[in-house]
Amino acid sequence: MNIPDLDWKNLTFSYTKTDYNVRCTYKDGKWGEIEVSDSEYLPLHIAASCLHYGQESFEGLKAFRGKDGKVRIFRMEENAKRFIRSAEGTMMAPMPVELFCEMVRKVVKLNERFIPPYGSGASLYIRPFEIGISPLIGVKPASEYMVIMLVTPVGPYFKEGFKPTKVCMSREYDRVAPKGTGSIKVGGNYGASLVAGEKAHSLGYSVMLYLDPKEKKYLDECGAANFFAIKDNKYITPYSESILPSITNMSLVELAKDLGMEVERRQIPVEELKTFEEASACGTAAVCSPISEVHDLDTGEKYVFSTDGKAGEVTTKLYNKLRAIQYGEEPDTHEWCEILEVD
Ligand SMILES: *Cc1c(COP(=O)(O)O)cnc(C)c1O
Repeated sequence: MNIPDLDWKNLTFSYTKTDYNVRCTYKDGKWGEIEVSDSEYLPLHIAASCLHYGQESFEGLKAFRGKDGKVRIFRMEENAKRFIRSAEGTMMAPMPVELFCEMVRKVVKLNERFIPPYGSGASLYIRPFEIGISPLIGVKPASEYMVIMLVTPVGPYFKEGFKPTKVCMSREYDRVAPKGTGSIKVGGNYGASLVAGEKAHSLGYSVMLYLDPKEKKYLDECGAANFFAIKDNKYITPYSESILPSITNMSLVELAKDLGMEVERRQIPVEELKTFEEASACGTAAVCSPISEVHDLDTGEKYVFSTDGKAGEVTTKLYNKLRAIQYGEEPDTHEWCEILEVD
């Protein structure tokens, strides 16, 4: 295998060109064959529904090279199921779970030389997305769709690594509407979050912690990640209709239960931040990104969880446990990883 000359240990969460991507088109009511492409470009009609009316959804998952040299893909079926929900929520053709998984396996195998070596802390990020491709001027669902999957080797999401960062909170911004598209993974939600995100960055915070868009009383999504907190040996994560069900969060919940912790998924009033011992964001990109402080930009209130630059004990334990499963260092008791047969 011709190993690419990459600085694996210093990869960031950014795009690096790989060898191939895979594509599949939905036309005349059915999905076609999986096609392999070495082009980074896409011929697209200028009136395609994805360009004008936001018929687009995406996923994010990872493949890891383990301690035993084997390649593991983490909880791919869960991404496949969520991809279906996102398609349904934007009136796109849902891709069957088996076809989704077949495409993931294929794109990872085709780019095997880009799966970072064990010990580098990096992984191969897989980005499937679906777009409406038929030309439309009136607002209605397209009749043709395309799913493309690209891969790129990535390092940690935050350049600080597993170190707590400050986040801010404001009632001036919503990511999504109360009965809107918050619970599906669509690009439009991200476009709508950029102003708030840049505001947070410009003030020196890593992300904006959103409040529920209806009452602005409860914690919602943390940037583009879920939020969880630790208190009295409990793992507490917000219940909200406008949060994207994170597969990382779902997994941390199981690991917390394994550790004998109680799990609460419920509305979390802002004031409760005062009582938390640890707080963190979670998602595929970073697994956990611990929060040192939350600053309420409207009231001036500051909630502090860490003052020594270190993540909390429980968050660290959960983070290490999940990473160990992904890298094949510990038994995968929940059967979350698929070992990819590569030759
Ligand atoms: C992708 C995403 C997450 C994290 O989900 P994972 O399945 O853990 O990667 C959380 N919130 C939003 C808004 C997302 O888009």
